Parts: sequence; structure tokens; C-alpha cells
Amino acid sequence: MTGWLAIAGLGPGTAKLITPEVTEALADATDLIGYAPYLARVPAREGQTRHGSDNREELDRAGLALRLAAAGKRVVVVSSGDPGVFAMAAAVFEAIDAGDPSWRELDIRVLPGISAMFAAAARIGAPLGHDFCAINLSDNLKPWDLLEHRLRLAAQADFVIALYNPKSSARPWQLGRAFELLREELPNSVPVVFASAISDAKEAIETATLRDAVADRADMRTIVLIGSSRTRLIARAGGNPFVYTPRSAGVSS
Ligand code: SAH
Repeated sequence: MTGWLAIAGLGPGTAKLITPEVTEALADATDLIGYAPYLARVPAREGQTRHGSDNREELDRAGLALRLAAAGKRVVVVSSGDPGVFAMAAAVFEAIDAGDPSWRELDIRVLPGISAMFAAAARIGAPLGHDFCAINLSDNLKPWDLLEHRLRLAAQADFVIALYNPKSSARPWQLGRAFELLREELPNSVPVVFASAISDAKEAIETATLRDAVADRADMRTIVLIGSSRTRLIARAGGNPFVYTPRSAGVSS
């Protein structure tokens, strides 16, 4: 029996945003591995084994996936959004890099998904229409100093910034500090989008300006998009404004 390992993205939440390629891999798998709330999104299937885990055990999870695939199982490791964005794909390659040399010969595929920043951007307009970057605000795997350095440079370079993992009970102050620092670098009028639980029943989107942005608005299921100096709002009487970033900068049109 030939085993394989797919590291698959489940998108932001709704089943409608799971790609057919991922659905196919999930249907063919003998073993599913992932953070328990993500596994709960996948319909149960007879004969399939589920290995749910805590969110912090990424390297263990990657090792288990590789051992099962090496033993001939058809394994899918699930991530939310895209598996390559602050998620399991890098953990699997770290495990391969440091692990059993035979793992390099396994059939390993990364199946993309719709990342939170794309799902959120699509709901509000086109905030990522010009150059942008994505920053993981968690300082679990990097020092806070490095985060501040990157935020400051990203703002100075006038990128739109997508902030993943803006807040959790273990990291209560980081987003507020990030806003303070960004206010030193960017105009106060820059739009800030708080997009929570995108595509789920609890979806909520709010737009503020950098001046008024309050960190308390965010939680673990929020992505925060911070505009560049050129990001614009189009006000609408009936609801949220459109937010977009024009395609050009620094050229006369
Ligand atoms: N691989 C995932 C990101 C994992 S990090 C992806 O590509 O989307 C987890 C962070 O992603 C959360 O803290 C939040 O910032 C963001 N996120 C995930 N799902 C989301 C959703 N449905 N709505 C808003 N943000 C989400």
C-alpha cells in the first residue's frame, strides 16, 4: 500500500470555500490529523481515523503524519485558511528537514486554501489591491522586538498590513502596542478593518481609522487589515463602506 501525505487548507470556515481538490483528498484519506476544532469542520466518514490535537503541538502532529504516511496510510493534515500561511505546511517541512531521511521520498503535497486575509479582503472590497504584507502578531515563536521592527518597517514602506493572530488570552497587550507604534508611522486617517469569523454564522466586520482603532475589538478569530496611506473608504448609506487600495502608487496617471 502506498502512503501519501497531503497538507490541506480548509479555508476560513464555510464548506463553500473548500476547494474540490481538498474535498477529494479528505474523501480518500485513511487518517486525518489536526487541531480538533478544524477537524470538526470535516464530515465524519466511516473507516477514517481522526487524530485531534491541541493547537500548540504542531511538530508532534507533523511527526505523526509523516510516520503514518511512511507506514502506508493516506494522511491529510488540516489547517484553517491556507496551510502555508502561519500553519501546518511549514511544520511538516521542518520535521522532514530534521527527521528520518526516508521521509524525503514520500509523496507529499500541499493543497492550498483561501487564507483569512483573502476571505476578509473580499468581504470589504479590495484592500489588498496594491503591495501588502502579512504579519503574525504572535510572539510565541519570535521575540517581540523583531515584531516591532517589522511592523515599523512595513508601515514606513507603506504596505497594507494583514495582522494574523492579533490577540488571545495569553497575548492581551500586543495589538494595542502595535496600533500605538503604527500611529507614529502612518496618517491617523488610515482605515483599519477588523474582520472576525469570516464566512461563519458569527461573521462581523467593522471599519475604523487608525486613530480610533481599539484593540479590544479583536479576538482569536479576527484578522486586522491596516491600510496604507493610499487605502480609501467609499462610504455607503446602507452598511459597511467599501475599502480599497488603488492599484498604482508613485506614478502620474
Ligand atoms: N492558515 C490560516 C492562518 C492561521 S493563524 C490562514 O491562512 O488563514 C490563525 C489566525 O488566522 C487567526 O488568529 C485570525 O487572525 C486568522 N483567521 C483564521 N480564520 C479566520 C476567519 N474565519 N476570519 C477572520 N480571521 C481568521
